Amino acid sequence: MAVVKTFTVHETAPRTITVLGSTGSVGSNTIDLINRSPERFQVDTLSGNNNVKLLAEQAITVGARMAVIAEETLYQDLKSALSGTGIEVAAGRNALIEAAMRPTDWVMAAIVGAAGLAPTLEAVRRGAIVGLANKECLVSAGEFFCREVSAANARLIPVDSEHSAIYQVFDFERPERVEKIILTASGGPFRERSLDTLTKVTPAEAVAHPNWSMGAKISVDSATMMNKGLELIEAYHLFPVESEQIDILVHPQSVIHSMVEYVDASVLAQLGSPDMRTPIAFALAWPDRMSAPSPRLKLQDVKTLTFEAPDPIRFPALRLAREALNIGGSAPTVLNAANEIAVYAFLAGKLGFLEITSVVEETIDQIPKRELISLDDVYDIDAEARRIAHEKVLAAG
Ligand code: NAD
Ligand code: MG
Repeated sequence: MAVVKTFTVHETAPRTITVLGSTGSVGSNTIDLINRSPERFQVDTLSGNNNVKLLAEQAITVGARMAVIAEETLYQDLKSALSGTGIEVAAGRNALIEAAMRPTDWVMAAIVGAAGLAPTLEAVRRGAIVGLANKECLVSAGEFFCREVSAANARLIPVDSEHSAIYQVFDFERPERVEKIILTASGGPFRERSLDTLTKVTPAEAVAHPNWSMGAKISVDSATMMNKGLELIEAYHLFPVESEQIDILVHPQSVIHSMVEYVDASVLAQLGSPDMRTPIAFALAWPDRMSAPSPRLKLQDVKTLTFEAPDPIRFPALRLAREALNIGGSAPTVLNAANEIAVYAFLAGKLGFLEITSVVEETIDQIPKRELISLDDVYDIDAEARRIAHEKVLAAG
């Protein structure tokens, strides 16, 4: 069940903004856009996990009212870095949740992983417009998260480039006229690698994405193609379609960001250069548009756009994600949690590349499906999946 409904924007000008995860890749691009159009925005709060220096710099540059560092022990460091500026300082998980509750018009949810769920939910519960980069929270808490969005009449504007593309060409007034969604995938850095060479890839090779510059976790997800699996589940929740109506197509140039096919066989696509500032600008300004400095698409230079079907043998993550979506209930929560554990183990040199998806599959197989009624159910399943996935990592290493 997707969460689309009409939404009236009643807000102040300039738009007041919270950026959760401002020190990351999406967060920094958001700050860059805000700095280029300062008259449109008033930044209330920024948050980061442990990069005090960057967080303080950003807070000063944008003139934020508050800066929150999730790592509690860094409170004094942030306080010193911002002394004399008048910017309020807070630290810890609860401070992050309280920051998300501050009454701003618009919130960027750009924390990576399930750690972003609690603060993003607070922004949703107060009916904010939420620019959603953090796909893991939608995968992990799916139906529950969507119910909260509907109950609070909040608005999710996708920041993921594929979902931003679909959002821009999807006829929400006549969703029954949509035959399918075609999610495009770059194929990641190992698209052309043979299965036997994939056993030996290093974290450095896996994070070197051919088209997009991103944080480490999503870069590894792109290399395993679990990113597209998470995006399949994300699309299912964001748009009123069934899972069988979502196809995945590998398109290595990342120029067509995704497509919607209608019952009359007409296909609408959104195109652009692969620069996250375009989908971030779309979300920041929605329902208006704002200028973004992304390189203009010159198809005469790109010349060739190619497409291929994803390879299920080398990239089993897509099958795992589709199975988890079809099982429903707690299965996507387990998929997401086990994947986070496995990806960070791989980045730490404790797990082989191909073992990332094996750990995810074995963890899903071991945990029977449960229904998710409350947020506590999500947290319980998430914790159990992390514990089991961690045991599997130890056993593999
Ligand atoms: P990143 O690693 O560069 O940044 C993550 C941010 O979250 C940082 O500000 C970090 O300080 C903060 N953070 C990390 N752990 C935290 C914790 N436990 N508590 C509080 N804050 C924490 O990641 P990114 O590439 O910017 O991705 C952010 C999200 O956006 C992810 O969910 C990713 O899937 C999604 N996304 C990213 C891109 C991209 O181009 N980078 C594209 C589409 C979607
Ligand atoms: Mg994407």
